[in-house]
Amino acid sequence: MKKIEVGILGATGMVGQRFVSLLERHPWFELAWLAASDRSAGKPYVEACTWRLREPIPESVRGMRVNECQPGSAPQLVFASLDSKVAGEVEREFAGAGHVVVSNSSSFRMKADVPLLIPEVNPDHLALVRTQRRERQWKGMIVTNPNCTTIGLVMSLAPLERSFGIEKVLMTSMQAVSGAGYPGVPTLDIMGNVIPYISGEEEKVEQETQKLLGTLSDGHVRPAAFSVSAHCNRVPVEDGHTESISVSLRSKATLTDLAEAWRKFRSVPQERQLPSAPEHPIVLREEADRPQARLDVETERGMATVIGRVRVCPVLQFKYTALSHNTIRGAAGAALLNAELMKAEGYLD
Ligand code: NAP
Repeated sequence: MKKIEVGILGATGMVGQRFVSLLERHPWFELAWLAASDRSAGKPYVEACTWRLREPIPESVRGMRVNECQPGSAPQLVFASLDSKVAGEVEREFAGAGHVVVSNSSSFRMKADVPLLIPEVNPDHLALVRTQRRERQWKGMIVTNPNCTTIGLVMSLAPLERSFGIEKVLMTSMQAVSGAGYPGVPTLDIMGNVIPYISGEEEKVEQETQKLLGTLSDGHVRPAAFSVSAHCNRVPVEDGHTESISVSLRSKATLTDLAEAWRKFRSVPQERQLPSAPEHPIVLREEADRPQARLDVETERGMATVIGRVRVCPVLQFKYTALSHNTIRGAAGAALLNAELMKAEGYLD
């Protein structure tokens, strides 16, 4: 198969770097174009970018020139990881000009005609692009992945919603600093500290969860009916959002039933063997003190949600801990998997 050329909008940022790294040996996509702000445009990538990943910048990308975020010279398929202040305007311009924009930012996630996707959870919502094309008359399209905190929560809830139905959810997050971009949270604010506020995050988690687990019919998503309450905190961890979750279910279940629902959870990405799909989207740990960000964040190349500490909750019904890699499964890896699903479903032809 001839590889599909792709570009990255926001290629120099935390998520952009993950895209560069994950695309290096991608079997379907080939990185051909990079873009970022005016500060970076015109420079070779190695000079424009403060590279923060452990692996080196791929040789083929070091000298690539960074472009301005203008459609035209970009490949048809672009991954977007732009600063939220500019993301909406730039993505709209690219979609209008005929590009397929696979986005990480929040600008379009909650729009009624834009798919908010987790390929294991709601692959059918991709069909919303038909409504989008009809209503916006774009030649291109925008498809989004959820916020990095929503994704771990929803991956853990989806098997429970399918098997037992969900009534209520309470989630408290401990979110890594890489989730705030680069340079992100000032050292003096976060060192030895917990910050109990991340602007807009709790609302995003609550609303996105209901859209993702909602039902598509007649070109619209009816949000899931259960309530979600989120408490979001920033903690001095490099990568990996940890979440303490309590849930009450609509039908009777035991701890063993929950474990079985998570263990057997497989979906379209696994059936279709999409290149970025984890073999086990949910990995269950039995140890009393796992998952831990430092030890477990790279599970399944950062694409799995790791669940542990499953027990009875005296207030709701059950409680557990979930861990998810925020810049891989919560951002660049999520967008890659979305694009792979789109390719497999014929949306990139
Ligand atoms: P970041 O490290 O701050 O990177 C932002 C990127 O946007 C950089 O490439 C930057 O280019 C570019 N940019 C800034 N201002 C611009 C402008 N005026 N015009 C064009 N490009 C501009 O942020 P990030 O953490 O990678 O996040 C990127 C997006 O993904 C955000 O919308 C964020 O909410 C979302 N997201 C992040 C995570 C995460 O875990 N970090 C997870 C999910 C979603 P320069 O280097 O040239 O300034």
